[in-house]
Amino acid sequence: MNSKQEKIPDWLKKGYENIWLPYNQMQISPLPLPVVDAEGCKIKLADGRELVDGIASWWTTCHGYKHPTIIKAIKEQADKLPHIMFGGLAHEPAYQLSNKLVEIAPKGLSRVFFSDSGSTAVEVAMKMAAQYWINKGDKKKNRFICFKNSYHGDTMGAMSVSDPEQGMHKHFSSYMPMQYAVDIPIDEYGFADFKELIKGVKKNIAALIMEPLVQCAGGMKFHSTDILAEIKKICRENEILFIADEIATGFGRTGMMFACQEAGITPDIMCIGKALTGGTIGLAATLATDEIFKAFLSDKVENAFMHGPTYMANPLATAAALASVSLFEKEHRLKEVEAIESNLNTMLDKCRSLKQVKEVRVKGAIGVVQLKEPNYQKLLELRKAFVNEGAWIRPIEDVVYLMPPLVISKDELNFLTDTIYKVLEK
Ligand SMILES: *Cc1c(COP(=O)(O)O)cnc(C)c1O
Repeated sequence: MNSKQEKIPDWLKKGYENIWLPYNQMQISPLPLPVVDAEGCKIKLADGRELVDGIASWWTTCHGYKHPTIIKAIKEQADKLPHIMFGGLAHEPAYQLSNKLVEIAPKGLSRVFFSDSGSTAVEVAMKMAAQYWINKGDKKKNRFICFKNSYHGDTMGAMSVSDPEQGMHKHFSSYMPMQYAVDIPIDEYGFADFKELIKGVKKNIAALIMEPLVQCAGGMKFHSTDILAEIKKICRENEILFIADEIATGFGRTGMMFACQEAGITPDIMCIGKALTGGTIGLAATLATDEIFKAFLSDKVENAFMHGPTYMANPLATAAALASVSLFEKEHRLKEVEAIESNLNTMLDKCRSLKQVKEVRVKGAIGVVQLKEPNYQKLLELRKAFVNEGAWIRPIEDVVYLMPPLVISKDELNFLTDTIYKVLEK
């Protein structure tokens, strides 16, 4: 114990007196682990240990850490132009990236609005939807429909459309705008109720927002492409805009480049972030169709879209994103996702026999082992046990999941799934 504590670097001990960590009860939580390097799928700790990353740094490092193509792009851009404001001035990587994103996005999305985090991309989507109706002369359509178990970010608008009962945001319910949070309809009866609700409230609804195919932070819950396509259709029939939050599902995670493509739908507005720069620099974007964009064209200045983050479309970040997107084609990332899906199906199968396991499910490069009883103490113990085995796996509540870098080797994946089995068996 003592020898381990001596290995805590000075900067960590000293900085811990001043730093404030996210979603962390700092009075009881252990110190975070000091990282000195990361490469491929491995995180290197200050004491020399290595962890295989099973969750790709909050689902971002799709090409692994320090992919040379992205590092090179960032370095070259840093020498040329690390930043320039986006109002009145233009730079090449952002404009090229907008072309590239439209090329790979579901057909019909034609405009790209950049921002710096996923939460902001969601705020932008919600403001776009609300102002779309205002510009069309309808001031009543300013509320949103969202789904239980969804997570759309930590800022005010994004929180308001995230699961209202989830611990993460419940303190703030009194000053958040009220939205309509409902269950995702999964059968005939669910859809009948859902349509009934829509009929009653559609006059006040700007848009529906959802995470297509997989609700990620809310518990890695899956729904079918048919359900997704049907919800989209109901929105269209009832003059409700459809916002797809692909911040977690985008860039191959669920199988295709974007989850909406698997259901054959084009959302009116789509949010992307997380893996957009391959896990190197914060960047997000909100994409919209021509139909949405055209509602903002007018001879009235105030009809322009009213939003603009200071570091919008940062050149380093957009150059990194261009490099990251190019790797999907050059290195056949989606083929790798297929292999991961089939490997996860085989490798996680044995977890089904464990006493505390309720369900095992796999979608694309997402593998989920759902436990029977959620328990905070057990969660902390599990996290520690995984690290002791050399795996970076962070269960959320009752869900042990893998969302590894898409470049993970079969051996590394096998190591992660074996570790899950080994730790849960105890
Ligand atoms: C992570 C996430 C967000 C928020 O993104 P940040 O970059 O953390 O602000 C929003 N929506 C979904 C689906 C996410 O997974």
